[in-house]
This record gives sequence, C-alpha cells and structure tokens, in this order.
Amino acid sequence: APADAWMVYGLQDVVNQRRMIDESPAGEEFKQVMRGKLDALLSLAEASDCRRVRLLGYFGEQSTPCGNCDNCLNPPQVWDGTDAARKLLSTIYRVQQQSGISFGAGHIMDILRGKATEKAKQFGHESISTFGLGAEFSEVQLRGVLRQLIATGALAVDTEAFNTLKLTEGSRAVLRGEASVALRESVSSPAAGSRNGKARREKTARGAPSPAAAALDAAGQARFNALKAWRAEVAKEHNLPAYVIFHDATLASIAERAPATLEDLQGISGIGTKKLEAYGADVLRVCSSF
Ligand SMILES: [Zn+2]
Repeated sequence: APADAWMVYGLQDVVNQRRMIDESPAGEEFKQVMRGKLDALLSLAEASDCRRVRLLGYFGEQSTPCGNCDNCLNPPQVWDGTDAARKLLSTIYRVQQQSGISFGAGHIMDILRGKATEKAKQFGHESISTFGLGAEFSEVQLRGVLRQLIATGALAVDTEAFNTLKLTEGSRAVLRGEASVALRESVSSPAAGSRNGKARREKTARGAPSPAAAALDAAGQARFNALKAWRAEVAKEHNLPAYVIFHDATLASIAERAPATLEDLQGISGIGTKKLEAYGADVLRVCSSF
C-alpha cells in the first residue's frame, strides 16, 4: 500500500542521509536547505495529521484535510516521546561526563533500560543516575525517538567515531522541556503492558492477517505482529532481508508458544544456537509485552 512506503526507513537511513549532506562538498547554505528537506520528509512520514495538508504546506500552500489519505481515513494513535527523549539525551550527557567519550545508540538504550551489560560494568555506567530510568520503554520506541531527535538536529551522530551520539545546540530545548517529541504508534509501538495499547495491537492484528499466523488466537496474533515489527527493525538496522533474521513460520511458532525463557525457544524450527544467542533475549522481551 502507498501508505506503507512512508514508514519504510530506519535509524540508519536517517544517519546516512544526514552524513551524506554533512560530507557533501556543497556550500553550507545548500547543506542547510538539504537538512531542512530531510526534516520535512521525516516530519511528513511521522505525521499523524492529513498528509496532503503537510505536503502542500511544504510547498507553501494552505489546504484543509483531504479526507482520503491514510491519516484522514484512520487517524493514528500518537505517542508522546518527550519524556523518553529527555531521558535519552540526559543519559548521553551523563555518560559523556563520566567517561569522557561518547557511545553509540545501543549502549545508551541499554543504560536507560537498565541492562547490566558487560560494557555497562566495564565503564561503571550502572551508577549513572538515569540507569534503568527508562525500563518501561521498548527498544523500538527508543529507536523511534532517537531517529526523530537526529532528524530534527536535536542529536548528532559522529560517523567518524563509530556512530557515537553527541548532543547539539538543539538538544537543549528538548532537555529543558521546551520542545516536544511526538511519534506515531505505528512507528513506535505503545508501552508494554498498557491495556489500551494491548487492545489496539489486537485490533491491528485482526486487520492484517498473515497466512503463517492464521491459526493463532488473538493474543498469538498480537505477539506475531509485535515480532514482525521487531524483525523489521533488526533487518533494517543490519541491512538484511527480514527472512534472514527469522521466517514468518518461525515467528508464528514463537508467537504460538508464548515463550517466557530461552529454553522455551529451543526446538522451534528455524531457531539454531546462533540465532538463539543473537536474538533470544530480544524475542523474549517482545513476547513479554503480551
Ligand atoms: Zn488527508
């Protein structure tokens, strides 16, 4: 569907696009224009209001909601990512202050979500005051917020230094609570465990049947869809086709089993030792939301 085309991009795309602009030999004035265009494109993709109004507005034309685009026909749920954004920026700041160097998105998200990784131990980042403060946010949600922050220039990625995250002048407004960050729920799924979120997910599940998941009950369908959303993020991030991560049939088997431990995942067709190691914890986390 045309509507889906808007949503097919990931954090790495935004990083790459910004880098291409920054590293181009063009003059600073032209670069500013290109950055503005990228922001406009992203805000169009993430927009929850009429797409036609946005698009025409971009070309300087006033209009009223068209009643025909995906947003007019099915107004999306909007998720307020401001709190998550402030916590992310604050974590980036504190980690930099403590260690004197910057870190990448994965490590920052781990700290905020309170994951006691080897890296966190090694750098003593478990003692940072925001450690675990964002345990309620999923990785998908936090990636959506990071993407938005990078797209709007409130956060920078140092591509010369292992894609580490750096605060910018624009970070300040978000940290001070002067700028808000709104995201579509279809981009970044609702917080785990919220009753409304669950009801909405089940509604989505009924609306988008998949042959591999046809035999699943409503809860299984919801897990299946969440697993597919997670797989899309991982595939995008590593620039791999989704089926290389897991086939639909494997995701359906996982959804049916509703695994709570790594042992529960063993024996499912399509999950070998390597995939269990690489994705097991993530899969359990996704399933634990239901
Ligand atoms: Zn519209």
